[in-house]
Amino acid sequence: MTSTEAPPVAYLDHAATSPVRPEVIEAMAPFAAERFGNASGSHRMARDARVAVEEARERVAHVLGADPTEIVFTSGGTESDNLAVLGTLADRARSGETIGAVCSAIEHAAVLEPMRAAACGAAAVLGVGAVTLDEVGVSPDGVIDLDRLAEVLGTQTVLVSVMTANNEVGTIQPIQSVADVVRRYAPVAALHTDAVQAAPYVDLAALTGACDLVSVSAHKLGGPKGVGALVVRAPNQLLPLLRGGGQEHERRSGTHDVAGIVGLAAALRVANATRAAEVSRVGALRDRLADALRCAVPNTVETASRSAVLPGHSHLRFAAVEQEELLVLLDRGGVCASAGSACASGAIEPSHVLVAMGVSPDDAGSAIRFSLGHTSTEAEVDQAVDVVANAVARLRR
Ligand code: PLP
Repeated sequence: MTSTEAPPVAYLDHAATSPVRPEVIEAMAPFAAERFGNASGSHRMARDARVAVEEARERVAHVLGADPTEIVFTSGGTESDNLAVLGTLADRARSGETIGAVCSAIEHAAVLEPMRAAACGAAAVLGVGAVTLDEVGVSPDGVIDLDRLAEVLGTQTVLVSVMTANNEVGTIQPIQSVADVVRRYAPVAALHTDAVQAAPYVDLAALTGACDLVSVSAHKLGGPKGVGALVVRAPNQLLPLLRGGGQEHERRSGTHDVAGIVGLAAALRVANATRAAEVSRVGALRDRLADALRCAVPNTVETASRSAVLPGHSHLRFAAVEQEELLVLLDRGGVCASAGSACASGAIEPSHVLVAMGVSPDDAGSAIRFSLGHTSTEAEVDQAVDVVANAVARLRR
């Protein structure tokens, strides 16, 4: 490579979004072209689109271990989370009564913000009345404190939300144990899990077996952006956030994104079929990256133990280095990584996840999230190790 040539890209930001799989593009293509019907209509083009949506629903339900009637298609993880939180709280609101909501302190903003909006009265327009919110802390490894969870639950608790795996650090939560605690101490509560990050790596049907509501998003699975699903296990009810034409059995109005829904089903099918192999392949690549960086870069700290995190995540802290400066040098070297969640990138505030894990603000400011996925290769990992080692050495000089 000459000095003017752009370096090859080492894409290590799958937690932000994953490249679309070829099988997904192939499945979607006809619906972006000649099969353009509106699934809510009555003629042959509409029927064709509706059949495609219903076939996709069956496939999505199969992978998620749900009944097709329990699948609500949405515009992605953010909407699935908002619908789970606000839709449930609005459904359970009773005039004059205070209801309780509980979540972990490391939830994605798509759960935390609607929870906090409901608790401060900002969601009243949706019919959500008085709500108390408890945010349950985590261990230094980022795992929810189950004893504290049990303490805050009660008969007034109507909703508990604990993510399957964290987007920044990748920590996997003990969802079955969370479910056991919730069923015991908050018998009327609905349990929601945000499985957006975990979806490529965990058995989604087992999650659905333990929870009442499960959020997934296609673009973290090698599917298109802007489409996702929420599993709403019967007999749970929720009030819609979007009202209009009454699609999705009145739970989510809006013309179906037929191509996107078909893409979501294809992405879930491929992810499910390749899951076991990818867990070990991607996990080995992640170990190669983390081991090599710890060897090549002095004072590199792994934020959480590898046994506790998703196979694709490596969250590393490089002492005495400022993450934004490092990210600029990584980008110049062709390495795409991130400071944490995509939305928090560039923010001055330290990440709420790292704060909850007890990481100091200075250390939090030196953190980089490398996230690998279905397209990751050894060559990308080796390129990243070289570029990171040189960049950190340069910034420390
Ligand atoms: N939940 C988690 C854990 C995420 O990581 C993300 C996206 O980064 C979302 C929700 C939001 O999903 P979407 O980008 O599909 O709106």
